[in-house]
Amino acid sequence: MLKIYNTKTRKKEEFKPIVDGHVGMYVCGPTVYGPPHLGHAKSYISFDLIHRYLKFLGYKVKYVQNITDVGHLVGDGDEGEDKISRQAKLEKLDPYEIAYKYECEYFDAMDALNILRPSISARATGFIMDIIDSVADIVDKGYGYVTKEGNVYFDVHKYHKYGQLSNRRLDDNVSGERIEVASDKHHAEDFALWKAVDNNTLMKWNSPWGYGCPGWHIECSVLSRKFLGEKFDIHGGGIDNLFPHHECECAQGDILTGDVPMNYFLHNNLVTVNGTKMGKSLGNSMTLESLFERFGAITIRYFVLQFHYRSVIDINDEAILQAQKQLEKIGEFVASVEAATNVEKQPTGDLKELFDACVDAMNDDFNTPVLISQVLKLVKVGNGYVKEGNTAKMQELLYLINRFIYDVLGLKFDKQEKKEDDLDGEVKSLAKARWQAKQNKDYAKADELRVKLTNLGYEIKDTKDGYEIKKIK
Ligand SMILES: [Zn+2]
Repeated sequence: MLKIYNTKTRKKEEFKPIVDGHVGMYVCGPTVYGPPHLGHAKSYISFDLIHRYLKFLGYKVKYVQNITDVGHLVGDGDEGEDKISRQAKLEKLDPYEIAYKYECEYFDAMDALNILRPSISARATGFIMDIIDSVADIVDKGYGYVTKEGNVYFDVHKYHKYGQLSNRRLDDNVSGERIEVASDKHHAEDFALWKAVDNNTLMKWNSPWGYGCPGWHIECSVLSRKFLGEKFDIHGGGIDNLFPHHECECAQGDILTGDVPMNYFLHNNLVTVNGTKMGKSLGNSMTLESLFERFGAITIRYFVLQFHYRSVIDINDEAILQAQKQLEKIGEFVASVEAATNVEKQPTGDLKELFDACVDAMNDDFNTPVLISQVLKLVKVGNGYVKEGNTAKMQELLYLINRFIYDVLGLKFDKQEKKEDDLDGEVKSLAKARWQAKQNKDYAKADELRVKLTNLGYEIKDTKDGYEIKKIK
C-alpha cells in the first residue's frame, strides 16, 4: 500500500487515485530565464522518481508540467520586472528567444539526468485565452477586482481558506514583507491575476482589461484544470513555492471549480551548498552543465536520490565523489549480471525478500535512502551469486536490476560512456588520417577530414610537434 505525505493534511496518507488505475499528476515547471541548476535537478528528479514508481505500480500516469515563459516577476511578487524580459535585456535578445533558449537547455539537462519527459509540457503563452477566461470567471464570482490601471487582483480577504495550505494566517502579514506593495491593491496580500503592461512590451495580449499578461499563479490553475480536469490526484512542486504560489493555486482552483483541485500536494525540499543556502552569489558553480562536466549527469541523479525528496540536500564535492564510487560499484555489478544472462525471472527466497524490502521502502512515501540501502545489499548478495556462477539466481538478480535500478531509480551505466569511447576512437583515427594526408601534401584530403571532424564536434589545430584535438563547445 502506497503512502504519501500530503502537505494539505501534514500527514502520510494512503494513496487512492480518483480513477482506478490512473493518476493525474501536475508539477510546476521551470521559469525559463536562465540555465538549469541543481535546484531544478532536485525537484524534477524527485517527481521523476514518483512518476516512475507510479508506473512501476501499474498506474497509467498523465504527467503535466508547465513552462513559465511569461508573467513570473523578479522577487516572485507582483511588482518589478518580468524575469524573462529582464534577462532578454541583459542578453540583447527578445523575450521569446530567451524563453525558447532556456527551455531547450532545460530539456537537454533533464534528458541527461534520464528524467522521463512529462506527458504534456505546456507553455503559458500558448494558453492566454484560457487564462483570460479564468480570470474573468474569478472576477464574475466576486473574488477578483479590476483597478483603473488595468490590473486584476485576487481579493484574499474574501476567500476565507486563504493560508490553509501553507498554514499561515492573513494577519501574519504574509505577503508584502519583502516585496513592495502595489499602490492599486486593496490589501497587501492580494495577488495579481492579470498585469497591465506598457505598450512597448513584446509579450502582451489584449484582454477585457486592456493589454497585459497573466500573473504567475494563474497559469498553473488553468493548465492543470485544462489537462487533468477539475479534480486531480497529485500536485507537486518545490517547498519554496508553497507560499505564495501554491497557496494561490488552491485559492484560484477552489473559486473556479468549487473545490481545491488536487487531492495530494507534494513538496520537495531544497538544496544547500556546504551547509549554506544556494544563492545567486554562487553564480555558475551550481549550473547543471558545470556539474555534469565535473561528475557526469547520472552521478548527480544518483547523488540526489540518496536523499529523501522531503529532505534538504547538502551538496559538496566529497559527498558527490562518494556517490560516484558507489554508483561505479553498482554499475560493475549490473554489468557482471548482464554479461552472464539476459533472461529475467521472478525472485525467490532471499531475493524475494529484498524485492519486498525495496517495495516497502518506496511505498513509505518514496523513501529512496532506504531503497538505495537495499540496492547496495542486493549488490553484496548478488556479487556472491555471480562469483558462484549461479545462473538461476542471476536471472532473478536481473529482474531486480531491471525493476529497481533501471525502471524506478532511472540509473544508466557505461553504455553511454562507451559510446563516447567509440566516438573518441573515430575522432582519433580521423585526426591521424588527416595528419598523414598533410605529411603526404594531400591538402584537399586533409581539409576534407578536418571538415568531418568539425561535423563531429571537434576542432583540430596544428602545433609545433603535431596536432591537438579539442571538443567544440
Ligand atoms: Zn505552478
